[in-house]
Amino acid sequence: MPDAWARLWAPHRLEYLRGENRPLEDNDIECPFCAIPQKSDEEGLIVHRGQTAYVVMNLYPYNAGHLLVCTFRHVAELPELTESERNEVQALTVQSMKVLRKVSNAVGFNIGINQGEVSGAGIAEHFHQHIVPRWRGDANFMPIIGKTKVIPKLLQESREQLSSGWNQI
Ligand SMILES: [Zn+2]
Repeated sequence: MPDAWARLWAPHRLEYLRGENRPLEDNDIECPFCAIPQKSDEEGLIVHRGQTAYVVMNLYPYNAGHLLVCTFRHVAELPELTESERNEVQALTVQSMKVLRKVSNAVGFNIGINQGEVSGAGIAEHFHQHIVPRWRGDANFMPIIGKTKVIPKLLQESREQLSSGWNQI
């Protein structure tokens, strides 16, 4: 397997499993992916809102510009998605790749969905697809940035660039 895919399931991601945004079972903490769309784009770090799904910056990125495509509906797995949800997730993924290429000159991508907690999904209860842009020589950067929450300012700046780039394509 290519190195980058191994990193998607790397042990350092345990930090994320313990992360502040992880919904706990049987309590009243709201699912973060349900809460994000209720915020403004700036506050929620939303890049684009579609009809059935939206694109958001990941607070715990594997790499700079790491995006998530989330359904608006609180459903867990791909087979539970409607056809229009599946189609839009795919379309938003395509557009995200185009925008990341344009804005950040990404030369490759890791795209993946973790299904079920055993797979390493941090928030297994709510469907989200990862889009991780890649650049040559970035591999050493990923384990470092993956361990800590990125400076909010950096995420805000990236969100703005991607959001304005979105409408230019
Ligand atoms: Zn949810």
